[in-house]
Amino acid sequence: MQRTDDTVTDGNTTDHINDDAHDALTLGQVSDKSDVLSLDDSLSTTDSVNKTSELRKEQLVDETLTGAFDLARHNKGGCLIKNGLLFHRAKIFDNTVERLVVPKGSRKSLLELVHEKLGCHLARKKTKERIGLSFMWPTMNKDVIDFFRTCALCQKRAPITYLDRVPIEGGVVSTEPVFHFYVDALGPLFNYKAEYNYCIVFLDHASRFPHAVTVRNLTAKSCCDAMLSFWQFTGFPTKVTTDNATNFVGELTREFVKSVSCSPIWCTRKHPEANRARQLYKNISMLFLFPVTRDLLFTNI
Ligand SMILES: [Zn+2]
Repeated sequence: MQRTDDTVTDGNTTDHINDDAHDALTLGQVSDKSDVLSLDDSLSTTDSVNKTSELRKEQLVDETLTGAFDLARHNKGGCLIKNGLLFHRAKIFDNTVERLVVPKGSRKSLLELVHEKLGCHLARKKTKERIGLSFMWPTMNKDVIDFFRTCALCQKRAPITYLDRVPIEGGVVSTEPVFHFYVDALGPLFNYKAEYNYCIVFLDHASRFPHAVTVRNLTAKSCCDAMLSFWQFTGFPTKVTTDNATNFVGELTREFVKSVSCSPIWCTRKHPEANRARQLYKNISMLFLFPVTRDLLFTNI
């Protein structure tokens, strides 16, 4: 066996090696340093016998393998019983292989071993193929897919696809009136100098009830006064939506809204269209063409 170097120089080394191997087998001199243990030898060891008997018991008590055992008894579906263990015969790449049918209790550890520890987070298809070379069980494809979907590391590294898009949905509309108001400022109303040249517009979220309070200017104090004058009749709302104008995001307005236990909602910057009170602009502008309706619909503070 020590003639490895001779393979390069001596043309008759093959014969010498075969002769040595024959001699060794004849004399029963099997090397103790061999790292490879044959299948028959591995099954004959005491530990292997114990593990085999445990595996056999797991297969027998596993209710998910009942159908496979029935198929094996009738020699159908590629199932067979060998050495007391349930196997499945399949043809992979033109080779017929006998795959061990894994009981329920060992499937998770096998998936972790193949996908995480040895496979370094293989893809779903590769994980399934690698397991399928030596093992199988009835729900193998589904279990591999579920395990892959629940692997935290794979989910973090997965590419973003169109399936990850969050669909646009309508907001929750409150059904109770006077609980959510849209508030906006409007003005100047006239081209000439007028005492009340601005107004604060209110629109109820649920009932679309509109209202406007005319004010002298658009300071934060005027806005707070207008809100207080209107809400003293309707009751204080729980939500109020405004844009990002300084008179609405100022500290005075914030404190006022907070003092009446109202939650302010500010529209996204550069998107004032979210404030639906703005829709009243056109209608209110038309109303100002008629002085009679102007006096009836608007209150001054
Ligand atoms: Zn993974």
